[in-house]
Amino acid sequence: MTRHRELFIGGADVPAAGGRVTEDVSPFTGELFATVAAGGPGDVAGAVAAADAAFPDWAAVPPAERRALLLRAADVLREREAEVVALMAGEVGGTAGWAGFNVWLGAENLREAAAAVTAPRGEVLAAQEPGALGLAVREPVGVVAAFVPWNAPVILGVRAVAAALAAGNTVVLKPSEEAPLACGYLIADVLRAAGLPDGVLNVVSNDPADAAEVAEALIAEPAVRAVNFTGSTPVGRLIGAHAARHLKPAVLELGGKNAIVVLADADLDYAVDAAVFGVFNNAGQICMSGDRVLVHESLAAEFTERFTARVAALPHGDPADPGTVIGPLVSARAARRVAALVADAAHRGATVLTGGGEPEGALHRATVLTGVTPEMELHHGEAFGPVCVLRAFPDDDAAVALANDTPHGLTCGILTENAGHGLAVARRVRTGIVHVNDQTVADEPQAPFGGVGASGYGRFGGQWGVEAFTTTRWITLAGR
Ligand code: NAD
Repeated sequence: MTRHRELFIGGADVPAAGGRVTEDVSPFTGELFATVAAGGPGDVAGAVAAADAAFPDWAAVPPAERRALLLRAADVLREREAEVVALMAGEVGGTAGWAGFNVWLGAENLREAAAAVTAPRGEVLAAQEPGALGLAVREPVGVVAAFVPWNAPVILGVRAVAAALAAGNTVVLKPSEEAPLACGYLIADVLRAAGLPDGVLNVVSNDPADAAEVAEALIAEPAVRAVNFTGSTPVGRLIGAHAARHLKPAVLELGGKNAIVVLADADLDYAVDAAVFGVFNNAGQICMSGDRVLVHESLAAEFTERFTARVAALPHGDPADPGTVIGPLVSARAARRVAALVADAAHRGATVLTGGGEPEGALHRATVLTGVTPEMELHHGEAFGPVCVLRAFPDDDAAVALANDTPHGLTCGILTENAGHGLAVARRVRTGIVHVNDQTVADEPQAPFGGVGASGYGRFGGQWGVEAFTTTRWITLAGR
């Protein structure tokens, strides 16, 4: 039985103007999974009006109440884990392990946001006049527009709203067309079940053909005061340009071209384990996935042999099968895109050590290549699939130069048994995040998360997430 969701506006399920709907297809079976209302600019205006009307009351809710609500939401999400596992398998082809991680980290994000409701919101300043008082006060901005991708739908749907809500803002969330349920309506359901007042969070899904128009309409709405976008770099550029045109601050969390660097003093067993996880978790469809594994030449031959053997043995297939490690990509189209990148590299002289070949529907085999050079497209863009490029380097300078040879700058993993060595290399890599003696995929809700360069700007997480959705005002009290 196919499910259907209407838009969620002002606490009610409402059809899109004209009753338009769009289809949500299951990647593994290719069958219709759900239909959702296809909102347009008029629906966006309605959602922003609801969020704007709800803002004064929500901003005035005592922090203890807001905290209790966010903590309840974390519990509700954990209670719904089985439902989320089935939803993510059906909607995006996520394995049970990936869905479980989404639930766990989604709940942790809600708990971190709960802790932030009582974080200090300002400072008392020295004043020039005797007896006068100056205050720097952080206050919510108002309505926040949130754009969410499909790849870690629950984590990123929660992340897009949690700190903003904790700080007293209201939100209009535009989910990815690939996962409107898991990254949009589910988040609203969880918060509604926890007692979120009507209008504080609104969700407007859309038809893929209308993505640009809907995004532009949402950002242009005068009551929208801040934007957060998680998604690809090309779309992030468009969103950033719209936000700038309307003078609205934006957090842009975009794509990566992340390197896992295996230094000469790494432990080989640990490095192989770390790299397999960092590259192939969720079939490489994580912004932090290692696209490139750079290995010191003294370890390269042995690393390549062990790593390739491990990758060749990763079980592929049905995401609902608990043994599956490499499930389908988000769509057959995505699998064909990845296959074309691999085929182009092979055609131009790269060596495919394992994997490659034609995809089966949305399934693409885990693939390892060497000999990838700048004339190949795979050298430049994010693969966003189960594909790894191996490369040897002679010394630290070369490792740093290779790691930095990309306009992206999201995350880097540096494997070494020597902490000082790792820290020295970490300081020279231009990414927003570096993990020493670990791989690239790591996310903790209290930490500043975000990239530099083509990976975007602004930070989610901890105090930084709250800062992004508050504005600092200077308030004075004269001494007479
Ligand atoms: P995407 O950019 O295609 O879509 C993201 C959002 O943008 C969706 O809501 C979509 O509807 C909207 N959109 C699409 N085309 C648009 C247009 N022309 N104008 C306005 N809006 C448009 O990204 P995706 O495929 O959903 O997600 C994968 C990408 O997200 C990867 O590049 C990945 O690295 C990145 N990502 C980054 C982070 C991070 O935290 N840095 C986290 C997860 C994913």
